[in-house]
Amino acid sequence: METITEEEESGKKDEASDEDEVVLYIEHKFCSACHLEMPLRCKHCKDCDQCVATHDHHCPWVNNCIGELNVRQFYIYLFMQAAQLIQGLSIVGRVLLHRKESTDATSVGKETQ
Ligand SMILES: [Zn+2]
Ligand SMILES: [Zn+2]
Repeated sequence: METITEEEESGKKDEASDEDEVVLYIEHKFCSACHLEMPLRCKHCKDCDQCVATHDHHCPWVNNCIGELNVRQFYIYLFMQAAQLIQGLSIVGRVLLHRKESTDATSVGKETQ
């Protein structure tokens, strides 16, 4: 991340105030709760009560924010959840098929008797 000295920053403020104030507001976003200057894509989470870099969302399933430091682990978590869902559905499917086959076999046996 690029560091900006106070002299450069004040010079940029003067230049930017003449051009566009919206750009100045986005570049110098400040979190009033953490008292920190927020970089772009940073957001203060009310649930976690802290600023999160590259904020994606607050996940209620992991009870934490998904951001720059844990987005890779979150994707692994999603992949594992999907794999577990597929495995569970295949087990249920096999049980249902086995039940149907066993009921078919008993009904065939009853017909022959
Ligand atoms: Zn904050
Ligand atoms: Zn959060």
